[in-house]
This record gives sequence, structure tokens and C-alpha cells, in this order.
Amino acid sequence: MTRPFPEKRIAIIGAGVGGLTAAIYLRLAGFEVSIYEALPRPGGRANLIEQEGFRFDTGPSLLNYPWVFEGLFAAAGRRLIDYVTLLPIDPSITFLWPDGTSFTPSSDLRRLRDECERLEPGVTPGLTAFLSDAEIKYNFSFRKLVRQNVDNPLAWLCALSLGEMAKSAVWRSLDSELKRFFGSRHIREAFGSYAMYLGGSPQNLPGLFSILSYAELAYGLWLPRGGIYGLIEGIARLAGELGVNIITGRRVRRVIVRDGRVRGLEFADGTTEDWPSVISNVDLPTTRRELLPPGYAQRPNNLLRRHPVMTPGVVTFYWGLRGRLEGLQHHTIFLPDHFDAAFDDLFKQHRIPEDLPFYLSMPSATDPTLSPPGCTTVFVLIPTPISSDAGPADWATTTTFLKTRILERLRRHNVVIAPGRLIVERILTPEDWQEMFGLYQGSAFGAAHTLFQLGPFRDRNLDRDIHGLYYTGAGTTPGTGLPIVVLSGQMTAERICQHAR
Ligand SMILES: Cc1cc2nc3c(=O)[nH]c(=O)nc-3n(C[C@H](O)[C@H](O)[C@H](O)COP(=O)(O)OP(=O)(O)OC[C@H]3O[C@@H](n4cnc5c(N)ncnc54)[C@H](O)[C@@H]3O)c2cc1C
Repeated sequence: MTRPFPEKRIAIIGAGVGGLTAAIYLRLAGFEVSIYEALPRPGGRANLIEQEGFRFDTGPSLLNYPWVFEGLFAAAGRRLIDYVTLLPIDPSITFLWPDGTSFTPSSDLRRLRDECERLEPGVTPGLTAFLSDAEIKYNFSFRKLVRQNVDNPLAWLCALSLGEMAKSAVWRSLDSELKRFFGSRHIREAFGSYAMYLGGSPQNLPGLFSILSYAELAYGLWLPRGGIYGLIEGIARLAGELGVNIITGRRVRRVIVRDGRVRGLEFADGTTEDWPSVISNVDLPTTRRELLPPGYAQRPNNLLRRHPVMTPGVVTFYWGLRGRLEGLQHHTIFLPDHFDAAFDDLFKQHRIPEDLPFYLSMPSATDPTLSPPGCTTVFVLIPTPISSDAGPADWATTTTFLKTRILERLRRHNVVIAPGRLIVERILTPEDWQEMFGLYQGSAFGAAHTLFQLGPFRDRNLDRDIHGLYYTGAGTTPGTGLPIVVLSGQMTAERICQHAR
């Protein structure tokens, strides 16, 4: 369908990573672009808490696929390194089990092999086969599936050759895919653990997602100097230099729609502005429920379902500690004794897992400027069910309980945080995430990545019913995570540029 594009002027609601990226690409294509952001600073979920000399990233802490960010700056004729310094984190993550078993993968092939052999003697041929299989999948996925604005499922899948289709493992689960290469339960659980953040278990997410652990090994994990927010500052600076108008502290109340076309925006203070086209970077289901005229939320913006299945919520702790925290490295994932039961609790029983999995990051171990001298910045993330599944919660009691469980578990690994060491403590519950950033049902990562919520099955980046309305961010294609959301911004901009021709 071709759409008339009256003027090269566009407003973007929300200065999350998707909104900032779309703005940069559209500015480069000659558009006049204004971003309206409700909060005092850009970044969205990738925001900043500063207190008592500690600098905490609110959300994302694991940065992968640096080539995506390099591509964003290169599109503007700039170099990422002139804006952001990326510090390597290797070994990347330590996975710990309650019985003391640990697994620390590395991008260094020899160290990776030794570590896998320690857990599963004789695994080297399986590891080698896993890496080369996932590399092939990764390459054709990014070239042919992830980065394409394709609305037709047949055309999307037919982009793959028969061999690639078979290799893609979309018809197999991630669990059975990992079992093809690894006998060790610990290696499989470590490589399957990201499923939780994609909104499923290794049993029900497609095997294609073996590319996640591969990509982490192949491209490494990085910390921008100044924390993840250092990257946001670099991207926002680039947008500003290009002439994107970023207006913070300006909440949009609704998108004005008449005769099936976008006409402008109404702001929280009651004022209005005319705009021929709008991109919403606000979480997609929230946009459709709260910013569009009644009725539109009931119409699906994808091929299959009205309401997307969402990824879990999170409780996040931000601790500023006196002194160093010995015994842990930058990223640690604490896995439970009963891995499958934790997924079952979260996704089927809709409760915080009894046998608590959580993630802890200590970014000041890599960049000491994130805390006062001699102190430590700690971030802890616990997955929770989404609010519609869990029902009302007493978050004050729940977070106290969770904190006790986390400290107990840390003690089991000989990591002791005495109460007197806590200089700063901030906590965000799923309710806070929902309220602060407009996250539908408090879901931290947006729509889940089950097979029928990928590619053309996912909510589209253009509205099916309202001319001139587009979407970008974690809720639309290709999906969630900082680099993937950068691709989302680029793809939305490409869609608009096609329409503007
Ligand atoms: C706790 C947590 C941990 C994460 N960890 C990682 C990680 O380690 N690595 C990784 O790559 N990704 C991670 N992610 C995912 C990543 O943060 C997101 O995929 C990405 O930041 C989403 O960006 P977005 O473009 O969708 O915009 P969002 O971040 O959702 O931003 C949308 C913006 O819209 C604004 N807004 C909302 N309503 C209005 C309105 N009415 N008017 C004006 N503005 C409005 C909001 O204030 C916000 O700034 C994590 C997310 C969370 C929550």
C-alpha cells in the first residue's frame, strides 16, 4: 500500500533508544524532527539514577552487538569512539548455582573450551559444532529476517533457502536445540537462561535463539564509560548535533486522529500542535490503549492477536555500598537448583519463583567512576510475573522478602553485605516501571519473542488503520534489547522514507 506523505515533518513521542534512533535516521533523510519526552531526560528504560556520588543505570546493563551502534554513528558520518568509549568485559558473565557450581564463559576460545570441558569432559566437538551452527544462523537471521520490514509471513520465511529454513530451528525449542550439543545441564541452563527475558522458557522459545549466547561469545559484552547511560548521552548528543529537537518534560496526552489520519498531538497541559505524521516510541500496547482514540486498541496491529503476550516484569534494586564487594565479577547470574520449576512458577503459576533466580551487576568493577572512591555500585534484577497474571501485590512486603532472600543467597557464595555498608538503596517495582515509563502490565522487555510474535507476526511498525502513525521500540519489530531497538528505529525510519518517496 502506498501512502501519501504530505510534508517532511514528523513528531516522535518518547526519547527511548528507538525514538532517538528513528529521529537520527529521519533527520539524515531531510526530515524536520521533534521528540516529545515526558521525563526530564532521554533514554527511556535506559535511564539514570544519581545519588550520593553513585551513578546507577536503571534498566539495561548488558551491552552486546557493538557493530549496531557503530553503524548508527557511521550513518551520520561519525565514529562511535568519538562519542562513547566501550570497555570490554571478559570473562563476560559468571553463572552460579546454589551448590557452588560455577560457569564463566569467555570470548577467548581457549578459555571457553577449558571452562566447558571442566563441566563436561569431552564436550569440545559439541561446543565447536554449536558455535559454527549458531554462527550460520546468526548471519542469515540478521541478513534476511531481523532487519527486514516484511509484513507477509510467507515472503518473510521464503527469504530463507531450504537449508537455512531447516537450520533456523524455529520449529524446535531452544531446549532441544541446546541438547543437540551439550550434555551438561549447567551449560544448557546457562545458555538457556536468557529465555526468561524474552518471555518464555527454553521449552517454548524457538531454537533460533541459540544465537543469543553465540553472539555474546562472538561479539563480547561491553560497558560504555559512564555506564549504559554514557551510550545514551552519546546518542542524544549525536541527535542534537544533527538538529533533532528533543523536548523533555513534555507529556503527550493523545494523538489527534481525524478521518483515519494523524492530525497532531495533544499534550498533558491541554495545548495542541499540528503534525502530519507521528512515531510513537511509547510501549506499543500502551500507545494503543492510552494515546489513540477509543476503539483502536481493540483492533490488532498484527496478523494474529489483539493483545500481545508480554515478557515478565522486574523488581530492581540499586545499592550504593561502602567498600568493595569481594568474590564477584561485573555480571553474575544466580540460577536456582530447579531451573524448569523457576520457569514454571513465573510463566504458569504466575508467581515469583520460590527458588529465586536473579541477576547482579557491579559495573563499578569495570568503571570505577560510577561510584565514589573505594565504593561499589550494585544492581540486582529479579523477574516477576506481569501484573495482569499476578494480580495486586504488596510490594513493600515483597521487596523486603526478596532482599532477605538475595542476601541469604549471596552469603551461600561467601559474599556478605552487612547492613551498615548500604549508603544508598533505591528499588523499582513492576508498578514503578509501569508508571514511570508507560510499560504495559509492568512488562520490562515488551512483547514476548515466541515464534508467533516474531517478524511479520509481531505488532507492526506502521499502524494498519491510521495513516501517518508509526511505531518504534521494543514492542514492535524486530524486538527487545538495546541494539535490536536501534535496528527498530532504523527500520521505522526506512519505512517512512519509502512512503515519503
Ligand atoms: C530492568 C531492565 C533491564 C534490561 N536489561 C537489558 C540489558 O541488559 N540489555 C539490553 O540490551 N536491553 C535490556 N533491557 C531492554 C531495553 O532496555 C529496552 O529494550 C529498550 O531500552 C527499549 O527502548 P524503547 O525504544 O522501546 O523505548 P523505552 O525505553 O520504552 O522509552 C519510551 C519513552 O517514552 C516515554 N513516554 C512514555 N509515555 C509518554 C507520553 N505519554 N508522552 C511522552 N513520552 C512518553 C517514556 O518516558 C520513555 O522515555 C532491559 C530493560 C529493563 C526494563
